[in-house]
Amino acid sequence: MMKIWFYKYELEPISNLGALAGSANRPGALLKVQWPNGKFGYADLFPWPELGDVDIDTQLVAISKGRLTSLAEQSIWLAKKDADFRSRQLNIFAGAAKVKNHYLLNDISKFNDNVLGNLRTAGFTTVKIKVGKNLEDEARFVSRLIRQNPLLVRLDFNSKIDLPAYKKFMTSIDITERAKIEFVEDPFPWNLEQWTEAAAFVPLALDNEFDRVKWDEIKDRPPFKVLIVKPARRDVEKDIKLALRYELKVVVTSSLDHPVGVAHACNIASEVRKSNPSILLDCGCLTLRSYKPSEFFTRVQSSGPYFSGVNGTGIGFDDLLQRIEWTPIIEAPGKKK
Ligand code: MG
Repeated sequence: MMKIWFYKYELEPISNLGALAGSANRPGALLKVQWPNGKFGYADLFPWPELGDVDIDTQLVAISKGRLTSLAEQSIWLAKKDADFRSRQLNIFAGAAKVKNHYLLNDISKFNDNVLGNLRTAGFTTVKIKVGKNLEDEARFVSRLIRQNPLLVRLDFNSKIDLPAYKKFMTSIDITERAKIEFVEDPFPWNLEQWTEAAAFVPLALDNEFDRVKWDEIKDRPPFKVLIVKPARRDVEKDIKLALRYELKVVVTSSLDHPVGVAHACNIASEVRKSNPSILLDCGCLTLRSYKPSEFFTRVQSSGPYFSGVNGTGIGFDDLLQRIEWTPIIEAPGKKK
């Protein structure tokens, strides 16, 4: 029998998290999972009700009934990776392949030239900006950022606009500046014809619209060139197979979640860098600065755009995880994952 314990927490955003999430506190839970062989590992469970996930309490009740949501399945899969290293007293990040990350900008009103100077000094070469709230301001901001800086820009609309608004946004940005937009994630809800039309401006990336894509209606090449891979949300091996089959580039990102989730995402990004180096672009795993710092936060070591590890066994955080008062949720039927 697999045993699972949980610990609920809330993350407090430093600024608005973008058009999708706003600025309210975000609840999630850490999970401790123990297998019949005695090995145990940890992972994060961080639902996004805005994307259709059931809330954290419903997630936990579902686990207690042995009905794992896809998020819980991914958490257990990640906890297993932790357990394999933790049981051998090995740090999962020792000798990991180095992965560069973009800088995530949730709220353009919090950005100034000072922040930018620091970014460039720190070695960031890619910035991802959450857009879709105030298009005119955002288009002006993007133009100015590109004109003044040798940076690549990624935009994420979280499907908040439509094709006409997208065209207006793109045509308001000078064509030479547009060339510095590496890709646009989820401009609007999936629709093959409309995405094909939108792809004429800059390359598109598929993230949350994934579940709506009807792969069999795609004849040759899909209208997107990049696949966002979120280990906390979807089966990574399936995603990588899909990327190879459709010749897509891959960006591994965190789920904007707890430092435990961030550490797991960084580890998966390193694994992809090792197994499929040619398809991996700058990733989006270093998202801790989106929230007020916690003790867990301070354990994550990074240098500019590079994650460098967390001390301890497995994914680390040993003493903090030991100190938690865990609540048992289940004796679940031994589900393999
Ligand atoms: Mg996205």
